[in-house]
Amino acid sequence: MIEQQDIHQQTASNGQEAPHLRFGTLAVHAGQRPDPATGAIMTPIYQTSTFVQSAPNEHKGYDYSRAGNPTRTALEGNLAALEGAAHGLCFSSGMASIDAILKGLRPGDHVLANNDLYGGTIRLFKQVFEPFGLRFSLVDMTDLAQVEQALTKETKLIWVETPTNPLIRIIDLRAVVDLAKTVGADVAVDNTFATPFLQRPLELGADLVMHSATKYIGGHSDLILGAVCTNSDAWEERLRFQIKSTGAAPGPMDCFLAMRGTKTLHLRMARHCENARRLADFLEAHPKVGRVRYPGLASDPGHAIAKKQMSDFGGMISFSLADDDMEKAHRVLTGTEVFALAESLGGVESLIEHPASMTHASVPAEERHRTGLDDSLIRLSVGVEDGDDLLEDLDRALGLI
Ligand SMILES: *Cc1c(COP(=O)(O)O)cnc(C)c1O
Repeated sequence: MIEQQDIHQQTASNGQEAPHLRFGTLAVHAGQRPDPATGAIMTPIYQTSTFVQSAPNEHKGYDYSRAGNPTRTALEGNLAALEGAAHGLCFSSGMASIDAILKGLRPGDHVLANNDLYGGTIRLFKQVFEPFGLRFSLVDMTDLAQVEQALTKETKLIWVETPTNPLIRIIDLRAVVDLAKTVGADVAVDNTFATPFLQRPLELGADLVMHSATKYIGGHSDLILGAVCTNSDAWEERLRFQIKSTGAAPGPMDCFLAMRGTKTLHLRMARHCENARRLADFLEAHPKVGRVRYPGLASDPGHAIAKKQMSDFGGMISFSLADDDMEKAHRVLTGTEVFALAESLGGVESLIEHPASMTHASVPAEERHRTGLDDSLIRLSVGVEDGDDLLEDLDRALGLI
């Protein structure tokens, strides 16, 4: 049996020190130890901007909270352990973490990304970084020939989101990593939808894994926070320099809340997956529903790759109506009682939204239709409520059309 104290010592900085401990144990303990001053079992919220020094530059590892804070350090160690990474870094938001990665590039560098990305990521690429001289190509990465064709010797970074948003498509990470190697590009994976419980991109050869911890990692829709994990010392140094220089640091209270979230990540994800699978089966058999997009369905084009690179299929589902009509979709969206009509995802509560008029309204209709984003497409973030209630709720709402 492992002594309590040993668990805390072995997991205090990152998971590589405790390779024998499994995900659920790391989720609860990694990065944390009882407060040495008081014995408090929970990591304190070190709500302080500065730290007293005994002589100039003589301190206990912290001098100013923009550069580092002990609550943040604990969360960074926890997330690194979950992703199996040497380093974890936390940011004020998911977007701030993507921003910091892009600032590791130079004008003229080329970034290749999949074309169904989180809308905020596309906005950051095109409207913030293109004017500074970075170049971006967005391709359908489920077709590897398109990836290969778009690579150039200036390609320094491949940005991948899988499962994708809102079509829940699956991109073969190992195949993309192999293609990246042919031009010496790094691969960054936005792992927000899968979480490290379902998918660990670094183990598949990626260089960087990024999270909007706002979603499943926090898990309770009560904070905004971002994270990056990497095994590269060079990337770690670059990103830490960015946090300190640009001030993209999260506050200690948000770090505490995110760490409270990770303690139940494995429990929540198992329930998200269980509920989503039931709903996907139900929707696929429903006469008023058209195509259901969920990688757990044997009929889904991403099923085989998802089975290879994920341990389960996640909590996100999209579906179109048999009659692809926006007005009917609106009736379903406003007809649920348990599912709340809202953007965002990954919380314990179930959410329903309409990409064509909400999260992806800025995508021109022609482009939407070309990529399969139908007028009636409905996206579900399946929560951890009782599955029977969720099923009955959708059944009732579909009965309205
Ligand atoms: C929400 C989200 C982001 C942005 O994260 P914020 O924490 O909102 O800044 C990036 N990628 C994906 C896939 C997201 O869902």
